[in-house]
Amino acid sequence: MLIEPYVYLIGAGPGDEALITVKGMDSIQKADVILYDRLINTSLLKYAKEEAETIDVGKSPNCHPYSQEEINELIVHHAQEGKIVARLKGGDPYVFGRGGEEALALAEAGISFEVVPGITSAIGALNYGGIPVTHRNISTSFHVITGHENPLKENSTVNYEALAKLEGTLIFLMGMGNLKEITARLMEHGKNMDTPVALVHRGTTARQRVVMGTLETIENIAKAEEIKSPSIIVVGEVVNLREKLNWYEKLPLQGKSVMVTRSRQQASKLSSQLKALGAEVIEFPTIALEINRDLAAIEDQIREIKNADHLIFTSTNGVKYFFERLRALKIDIRQLGACRVSAIGTATSKALEERGLIVELVPEEFTAEGMLRALKSVIRPGETVFLPQAEIARKSLAEGLRSLGAVVEQIPLYTTTVPKASRQTLIQALEGGIDIITFTSASTVRNLVEILGKENKGLLKLCKTAAIGPITAKALEDLDIRVDFQGEEHTIEGLIQEILEGVI
Ligand code: SAH
Repeated sequence: MLIEPYVYLIGAGPGDEALITVKGMDSIQKADVILYDRLINTSLLKYAKEEAETIDVGKSPNCHPYSQEEINELIVHHAQEGKIVARLKGGDPYVFGRGGEEALALAEAGISFEVVPGITSAIGALNYGGIPVTHRNISTSFHVITGHENPLKENSTVNYEALAKLEGTLIFLMGMGNLKEITARLMEHGKNMDTPVALVHRGTTARQRVVMGTLETIENIAKAEEIKSPSIIVVGEVVNLREKLNWYEKLPLQGKSVMVTRSRQQASKLSSQLKALGAEVIEFPTIALEINRDLAAIEDQIREIKNADHLIFTSTNGVKYFFERLRALKIDIRQLGACRVSAIGTATSKALEERGLIVELVPEEFTAEGMLRALKSVIRPGETVFLPQAEIARKSLAEGLRSLGAVVEQIPLYTTTVPKASRQTLIQALEGGIDIITFTSASTVRNLVEILGKENKGLLKLCKTAAIGPITAKALEDLDIRVDFQGEEHTIEGLIQEILEGVI
């Protein structure tokens, strides 16, 4: 039993969204209020409950960050209101994250809490940079040190004399502002100036950059390459293993941030394939699907399904909602009798076959026009065609079928709406550097521009656009947006293939 109030201090990992723990993810899902830091991947917030309040304590609108005391007070305040609070912190909460102070504030206020460990950047970012923190015969220990304190300061609490003597890997966090002093101090206390050093900037994200040098050279290299904070300074022989172990930067889409604009329910296939290729995926759904709640309105139509000669599905959503409705109305699938089933697209066809309906016809071209061409010789005048689809589906298929002499029953199973997405979040994401935006239907294009606002359309020029097929591409062109990648097959695989060919 959960005793309220309750706070989870969660380590969100070093950046890659998937590096949060299962327990961390569970805790996000439970929270009523989420306070998050600057360094966490904000994509994690999509796992929160819809009604959860999210507070960016990394920066306030006037860019003045909250003080630690203010953050402690906020956590205590929300918990005392009886809310379940999640405090999301970069890496691990107890590695220089001031998580200890937050936990102490909670203990003092008598509030129950849990601390969920996270993968610290000291280990995770190095791994993605191709650097193992220890390695047999090379480094038998690793040491994580704050680089925040100027080592030249009198009474520095970091003992550089002792550090310089260590054979293990030295990992400095928050040290970019003191890089010169840190390297100088280590050399001064006897560490060989040829000791390899790497800087890992924004490790585990699309913006990861790694440079290598030695204690003597790294400062100039950092300046020349403009490596800034947040970065990790790694000192030790393990740095040389990067040449062989650098798996992450070898993935074909590493370094690319790709926006997925499909509905939340549908995004996962595209997102997971892009992630597997190394891309950082930002999901920004531009379509919300809602089942048509006016069941009575479509019940009569669905009950007539036994009279259908043809049943045509135009999308996987149509399939999903059609079967949900059959179940809700307790209509047995055998009612479909001898009607012939067609589908636009392999995904739609697969969704039907998974539910036990074998599709007779999938047109070569995955569009309404392609379907009409394929059906021309199949449909006879007077036959009844049922079209389970979205309320605002394109009319061309129904009209084309009627011109072939068919009696067409369109079943409006679901509606698509523009989600209440924040224009500000979208603008921030685009300004933050999205490399490619993927569009999987004409509505994703129109809705994105609606959310963004026509006056901000110029921001889209900063990114490349990828359209799943010709109709989606046309929707972009109609809005004067350049199309960089266009899938020919109208499938997710085809879209990804185009992106890969264009990028490599
Ligand atoms: N609790 C965090 C560290 C917070 S201190 C953790 O366990 O990772 C903030 C410092 O962490 C930054 O100055 C930087 O040195 C380092 N850091 C955090 N995320 C990083 C990342 N993705 N890449 C490189 N350095 C990172």
